[in-house]
Amino acid sequence: MSYQLINIVDASQNILCPYCQHAVLDWEQEQYIQPCEHTLFVAMDLGFEYASDVFEQSMPRSVDEIHAHDDQLDMWQELTSSRYPQYLIYKTDLGVQGLSRYVGITVA
Ligand SMILES: [Zn+2]
Repeated sequence: MSYQLINIVDASQNILCPYCQHAVLDWEQEQYIQPCEHTLFVAMDLGFEYASDVFEQSMPRSVDEIHAHDDQLDMWQELTSSRYPQYLIYKTDLGVQGLSRYVGITVA
């Protein structure tokens, strides 16, 4: 496995990048997704909210392809079949229908 999963219990807390301390998920902002240079992706089970070019190129399918077939989307499968060498996945429970949000951070 090239990723490490970190479960965040409180879905309302900001998610900070461990390298630059930037709030990648910042609930005080109207646009609450604020990727930093270490952010690889922000995604929910329903689709991507952000994907960096380098991470998208490491996935077997592009974001557009994934979204085009979102009726059969398994986001966890997509995120973890990446060839990206090493990354962290912060997972939070959205509290609806068992859905989760995933934030990917590169391991520098
Ligand atoms: Zn960062």
